[in-house]
Amino acid sequence: MKLYCATGNPGKIREFALADPAFEIEPLANFASLPPVEETGATFEENAILKALGYGALAGGLLFAEDSGLEVDALGGAPGVYSARFAGPSANDSANNGLLIERLRGSENRTARYVCVIALARAGRLVDTFRGEVEGQILSSPRGEGGFGYDPLFFYPPFGCTFAEVPAERKFSASHRGAALRKLTSYLSRLS
Ligand code: IMP
Repeated sequence: MKLYCATGNPGKIREFALADPAFEIEPLANFASLPPVEETGATFEENAILKALGYGALAGGLLFAEDSGLEVDALGGAPGVYSARFAGPSANDSANNGLLIERLRGSENRTARYVCVIALARAGRLVDTFRGEVEGQILSSPRGEGGFGYDPLFFYPPFGCTFAEVPAERKFSASHRGAALRKLTSYLSRLS
């Protein structure tokens, strides 16, 4: 089954490719040149729906969009929906990670979670949303070269290391994105 995904984030695209091979997940063509859908929602659900409906009309069949981010308890849930732009509108991963280290300096509470919400649309109409979460702890310095975003700081206790220190398949087996995508594919498998 063919599924279009509305993202230009190479880290997310690499992880979507690890989904059940019964699903052919293809990034929307020319995504970078499409007029961007503004992420004005206050929640991951709202932003995922905005993107699925905004881009959904451009795909003939099924399209999904996702919104994801990191919620840090000691920061009252920040950066949350602002995860990609924590250190500013055009911040890169290294600037965001640097700011996170700074904000948590001296804090004993290091608990955090990644959240991913996928919104599925058919011909521009919302079908449903699928949510995945994973709990971890924020380190005070980065470890590992894999993954993307906050992964070098996200320590996952069951693995005993960060998400940047494991192969992509292992991260996907436990991650918020893996969990949300598995919910989506099992929903679609039940329909067909
Ligand atoms: P979005 O494109 O608005 O959904 O922004 C997602 C942002 O959340 C990314 O740019 C990362 O900063 C962060 N993020 C989401 N998922 C992950 C992940 O799996 N690993 C590391 N960072 C993530």
